Amino acid sequence: MKTLKIAIQKSGRLNEKSVELLKNCGLSFDNYKSSLISPVSNFPLEILFLRDDDIPEYVQDGIADLGIVGENMIQETEVDVNYLQRLGFGKCTLKIAVPNNSNFQTLTDLQGKSIATSYPAILGKFLKENNIQSDIRMISGSVEISPGLGLSDAIFDIVSTGGTLKSNGLKPFADVMSSEAILIGNKNIENQDLIEELIARIQSVLRAKETKYVVLNVAKANLPQVIELLPGVKSPSVVPLAEEDWVAVHTVIPERDFWDKISKLKQAGAQGIVVMPIEKIIV
Ligand code: ATP
Ligand code: MG
Repeated sequence: MKTLKIAIQKSGRLNEKSVELLKNCGLSFDNYKSSLISPVSNFPLEILFLRDDDIPEYVQDGIADLGIVGENMIQETEVDVNYLQRLGFGKCTLKIAVPNNSNFQTLTDLQGKSIATSYPAILGKFLKENNIQSDIRMISGSVEISPGLGLSDAIFDIVSTGGTLKSNGLKPFADVMSSEAILIGNKNIENQDLIEELIARIQSVLRAKETKYVVLNVAKANLPQVIELLPGVKSPSVVPLAEEDWVAVHTVIPERDFWDKISKLKQAGAQGIVVMPIEKIIV
């Protein structure tokens, strides 16, 4: 049987979450930073640790079958790969930012101006779509300092909290793309079965992350109101308690509804609410 290869970031913002995801899929491997390849002992898979810049091309060229990388890098490298699964981490936005004291009002004010960026392909495409011609200046790091140094009129970069922009006297001007980590695959799919098995495991981990396991006690008289609040995977389990007029209800609820649901459950008569994380949900 062929061994699959998956490329993940060696160190940086996506490394820890990528390793955690694969470990939560039950894969057993050493995360030694000094090595480029780590074999998985309980699945026919090898993990390649790479710079994130290289991951899209490695997957496109079939050196790795799969990769975990930010959507921004996939778009920037303009590779032809399959998008297999959005992973929900590494979220960020790529924005154009301008100096606080500049009087840029609309996108067309960028016409003929210079913009420094590490993402010339994404920026070039965006400007073209908006019929704007600017001078794109490729800079590989610390893009934010370039207007202050007189190197450019604006910048285009990843912005998360905006703190770095602020400390460099810049303000957000236009959102161009939002990004998150994505599982990508080579276009010529070999080992379809293994890849599907891995995707199924990843999906069960992602589903579990979005959901909490809840156990609560309720008087039988209040059970209908409580059940109405709980959609569950199918329907909640109702378990008898030693105290005759009471039951325990076991169910799962989506993380996003969590606080809203818990206060409504309390109002409906739920007591002793215990909330637990879920490791995996296999459907
Ligand atoms: P490498 O050494 O692998 O080339 P890098 O320095 O280019 O790493 P990182 O800063 O580790 O890259 O970011 C990796 C990815 O994490 C980004 O391409 C982006 O998809 C994502 N990301 C999420 N939030 C942020 C953020 N606040 N700043 C930068 N990148 C972010
Ligand atoms: Mg990089």
